[in-house]
Amino acid sequence: MIQKIDYLIIGQGIAGSCMAWQLEQKQQSFVILDAPQPAAASRVAAGLFNPITGRNFVLTWLAEKIFPYAENFYPKIENQSRAKFFYPTPMFRPFVSVKNQNDWELRAEVLDQFAKKEIQNPYPQLIDAPLGGLHIQHCGYLDTLAFLEATRRFFQDKGQYQEILFDEQALQIQDECIIYKSWKAKRIIFCRGVEDATSKYWNFLPFHPAKGELLSIVPNQAFEPILNRSCWIFPHADNTYKVGATYDHQNLNTIPTVAARANIERRLQDFFKPSYQVVAQQAGIRPATKDRRPFIGQHHIHKPLFICNGFGAKAVSLAPYLTDCLLTYCQNQKSIPEEVDVKRFQ
Ligand SMILES: Cc1cc2nc3c(=O)[nH]c(=O)nc-3n(C[C@H](O)[C@H](O)[C@H](O)COP(=O)(O)OP(=O)(O)OC[C@H]3O[C@@H](n4cnc5c(N)ncnc54)[C@H](O)[C@@H]3O)c2cc1C
Repeated sequence: MIQKIDYLIIGQGIAGSCMAWQLEQKQQSFVILDAPQPAAASRVAAGLFNPITGRNFVLTWLAEKIFPYAENFYPKIENQSRAKFFYPTPMFRPFVSVKNQNDWELRAEVLDQFAKKEIQNPYPQLIDAPLGGLHIQHCGYLDTLAFLEATRRFFQDKGQYQEILFDEQALQIQDECIIYKSWKAKRIIFCRGVEDATSKYWNFLPFHPAKGELLSIVPNQAFEPILNRSCWIFPHADNTYKVGATYDHQNLNTIPTVAARANIERRLQDFFKPSYQVVAQQAGIRPATKDRRPFIGQHHIHKPLFICNGFGAKAVSLAPYLTDCLLTYCQNQKSIPEEVDVKRFQ
């Protein structure tokens, strides 16, 4: 028997999960299809969100919108799903040189709402910071596994989640709907991460996938903030500390490597004083894009087809706001921000 729904979501990573919660808030009917892969980016991700990045203190694109949005979005879902996965946590970033400190002074006025200068080293037992550093606000992390699990459980209980491998060959596209197996949906939203790079419908999009690796360690001293210098380290809800990450556009597999571990440890030992034990290492592939902006929007020929993808290293902060933009477009035709709209490649 055919089940008629408004939306079919393919893939339940961070993108598909955020999409599902947006549809739930707007009382749309939908089903999520997912074939969980242990090394899917969302399962491996550190889950960090941080508004100020780069050597020269760059404010993340759309920061004024996406951080307040995410800080409201995830706690609301925690309430609804009765689970804990959102952890706002301050970040300390030491100045690495006088030039670095001066670069900050030049930008301090603009970035004032996101970071405060600290003259003293607040963590002398953990790191050397003779020039002080920055306390960055609106930072933290999403326990991505707990978020995905809470989302799956919530929608599975309501009969809106199916564990199934989506096969593009079996998709039938009509003018105003799609039919896939026993579902007839007005719209289908592709949220399959790097898998969509090889889709016959979306392979025109310039994906630029990046393998990433990170370590889970247990240091001999407990601490609370996120520390960020040549790499980041922070205490995670799973009782380990996450350290990372690497970027590799060549070897697009999910096998952890000795070289990546050595690279991360070298960067960690550059500034982190306590001794530690490595307890795990993971690798995944980020669905990054050539122009470093996500792919959001509607297929130019097949109107019932949509995509929500290309979140690169920033899915946690971008996905809540941009899934809202996509849904608003679907419902009211209100335009999607042009920097992320897939129209830019059509
Ligand atoms: C080491 C590492 C560290 C990272 N750290 C961070 C971080 O700190 N902060 C941050 O914001 N981002 C981080 N990222 C990036 C982040 O993980 C990704 O941007 C994000 O997870 C992408 O989510 P997604 O839902 O688009 O894709 P995915 O996570 O890949 O999810 C796609 C889903 O679709 C399913 N799927 C695929 N094909 C099919 C099919 N045919 N049928 C059914 N289901 C299918 C997959 O199993 C998966 O569940 C990191 C990534 C890595 C690898």
